[in-house]
Formats: sequence, C-alpha cells, structure tokens
Amino acid sequence: MSRSTPTHTRVHTSQTNPVSGAPAIAADSKRPSAISVAGDTLDAIRRDVAACTRCRELACTRTQTVFGVGNPHARLCFLGEAPGADEDRRGEPFVGRAGQLLDRIIEACTLKREEVYILNILKCRPPGNRNPEPDEAANCRPFLDRQLALIKPEFLCCLGAVAAKNLLGREDSIGKMRGRVFDYHGIKVVCTYHPAYLLRNPSAKRDTWEDMQMLMKLMGIELPGRQ
Ligand code: SF4
Repeated sequence: MSRSTPTHTRVHTSQTNPVSGAPAIAADSKRPSAISVAGDTLDAIRRDVAACTRCRELACTRTQTVFGVGNPHARLCFLGEAPGADEDRRGEPFVGRAGQLLDRIIEACTLKREEVYILNILKCRPPGNRNPEPDEAANCRPFLDRQLALIKPEFLCCLGAVAAKNLLGREDSIGKMRGRVFDYHGIKVVCTYHPAYLLRNPSAKRDTWEDMQMLMKLMGIELPGRQ
C-alpha cells in the first residue's frame, strides 16, 4: 500500500460533518466541563492515578494503573473502555491482539501510534474484563478530563459502545453513533467498533474503515487509494 506524507499539524476544520453536512452533535449538556487546572501536567495526573484507590475493588485487583500513551500534543486521541489482562501486566493501553489491530488501523490512516494519544475511560482493569460500573467510570472521569484538557486534541475516536456511551452520556448503540460527529467540549468525536469486537467479527472491519475514512476527511488527511 502506497503512503502519502500528510502534514499532521493542527488546522482549522469545519464544525460540520463533511460527509453528511450535518452539524456536530453536542454531548450530554449535564456532563461537567473538562477540568483544566493551571499548572497541571500529565506527570502530575499520572502520579495521582498511580496512587488512586477510589474504586476499592479495582485498586485491590490491579497489577498497576494504565495511564495512557502517545503524543502529548496529539490532534487525535483514541479512547477505549478499560485495560485488559495484557495492558494490566504491561501498564500500557491497547498492547494485546486488539492493540495490534488498532496499530494497523492507525497505520492504514497514514499515522503512527506515537503521533496519536491512546487512553481509556478507566485506568484500572476490571476483574475478568467485565464492563466498568457507572460509579467506577464516574470516579475515573476527572483523570480523563484532566488528560484531555492538557492534550487538547481536536479529534477523538471512541472505540466501542462503552467508551462512546460513557464519554458522550448517550444510550444509543454503537451502530447508531457511527457516522455522526459529536462535540465534547470543543473536541470533535466519532465512534467506531472496538478492535476486540473486530477480532470476533471481521466483517465489521469494513464499517470501521468507513469510520476512519470519515475521520481522516475531517482531519484533512488524504488517504491513498486502498482496496
Ligand atoms: S479506575 Fe480510576 S478512579 Fe478507579 S481506582 Fe483506578 S485510577 Fe482510581
């Protein structure tokens, strides 16, 4: 596959979906504003996360917290739901088979893993990879909002229904959230399937590629012809 060499600098982009022409949809207005504290740093948040025991069960069962990884000035963040077993062991999000597939998706978008930022709704692994409980997601939300306030991404891609519903405060299925552009405190948000779902349902990869094409068009990144 040939690759173009896009310039991944911040540029002004339209407030509308370039595919449908529809305006970006605001996230649930009941959500708190992103937290921005003067003097805050990613290292300070990382230390706070590492010491956090707000979720008693998760703090007792985790091997370590999983903060996030990537370019601290990334235009694009990928948001998952929570660490799995591999992530809990290595302390980095999306490093197992699903992570390898995410890497391939990022590369297909002519980006590199180091250019984007990857993080999760929860910083600790739920036992048995169960879904995050609402109180756990609420406990961890200030860390996520502090990260986003510092990174200031222009775009965010929610990977899977858990991440999308938690971030946007919506109850729609991931199928209904795909193909739309949401707004989360000025960040343009698109939603697609979680890579782990794609491993179980390879036929959905075509849908995710459509989502990535829409996202790259929003970002002004030209993709090479791809079969
Ligand atoms: S999931 Fe988040 S809020 Fe809960 S213990 Fe871990 S770091 Fe703290």
